[in-house]
Amino acid sequence: MSKRRNKLDPAVARAPATQPTKGPPETNRLDRIRDALLAHFDVHQRAMPWRQTRDPYAIWVSEVMLQQTRVETVIPYYLRFLSRFESVRALAEADEADVLALWSGLGYYRRARMLHQGAQHVLKEHRGELPKDPDALLAIPGVGRYTAGAIASIAFDLREPVLDGNVERVLTRLDAIHGDPQEKDTRNTLWSIARSFSDHSRAGTINQALMELGATLCTPTSPQCLLCPARTDCRANAIGEPSRFPEKAPKKAPRVERWTALVLHDRDAKVWLGPPPANLDRWKGMLVPLLLREGEAETPSVAGVLRASRPIGSVTHVLTHARMEISVRIAALSEPPDALEGAFVAADALDSLAIPKVTRVILAAAAQRSSSPDKTASASARKNASSRARKGRATKGSTTSKRT
Ligand code: SF4
Repeated sequence: MSKRRNKLDPAVARAPATQPTKGPPETNRLDRIRDALLAHFDVHQRAMPWRQTRDPYAIWVSEVMLQQTRVETVIPYYLRFLSRFESVRALAEADEADVLALWSGLGYYRRARMLHQGAQHVLKEHRGELPKDPDALLAIPGVGRYTAGAIASIAFDLREPVLDGNVERVLTRLDAIHGDPQEKDTRNTLWSIARSFSDHSRAGTINQALMELGATLCTPTSPQCLLCPARTDCRANAIGEPSRFPEKAPKKAPRVERWTALVLHDRDAKVWLGPPPANLDRWKGMLVPLLLREGEAETPSVAGVLRASRPIGSVTHVLTHARMEISVRIAALSEPPDALEGAFVAADALDSLAIPKVTRVILAAAAQRSSSPDKTASASARKNASSRARKGRATKGSTTSKRT
């Protein structure tokens, strides 16, 4: 087979139960499941803006945004993003700061940076048109096997598979596949089964139907097998243990990081924001309050501000592999500390800037908990910051937020 096929379809360690080469009964089973999925999806699919288009750029944007993020969260971001960057060229020629500003609050900012770089690659190598060839799709920065399969099948009708968390769960249950899906042999088996599903004239719809089933009925802890169109052919359902699959290895406990956030106000109640410290690469290109990691030395000027500040509480920010315990302090300053890159920013400018969710959470905590406010911080400014930061779900006492 071609180079493309080899890249997207590695050798499998063991034959999947749905592989059509096993003979007529398995072929019939695969056809039955696909027919049932298609019939169900045609009637019950949820309305989503990216399902109204075959534009490969729009599908690319949606697939990147949907990685590790819920559909309801993505929809307004997707609409704003496409309205601002209506084409590959518009995105490629934008400043990274503008791209990150539109992504602010969606988290996993590396996705935005890679999408931006990917658009620049498509503009340079393909004159702004996403290529049909899956190998060429895979060569785009940030485009992995899943995204390439989604674009190829949904936008270009190619018989290419997808395997995300939802599809992985559905496939392991349909065939009652043992083993951790992150292990190479199991993963290869799943890709092979996914390919057998996508070998169909409606590959893009089949792929979406598998994803939809995993998102709606075949959920991690409460699969609704009685409502499932594939229940009569599902082996996990037949043995009465659907939730046993996939057999994932237990997650490692996230490491705990301790930080101090210094919220600095000037006389006009503007708040100081600057680039994150070098050890917070995940927020590169975005703006945060002054953040100091426990145990790391600060400059003499920052140490002076730290001494003059007062504690007002703490917030917890949960990331994929870490939990940030952040103690929040505030201080009033007429000028920023020496040698610090950054600027005082008015509360009503926050929405136009590239700021991660953690910034909103910290500012909300500072605004809500400064019970004896600094003279420089006006009541209206505090109200403004509090309302803007409500997205961070700040509450009295300790605050917890998830993702960036
Ligand atoms: S029958 Fe149950 S476990 Fe099997 S695919 Fe459907 S929802 Fe998932």
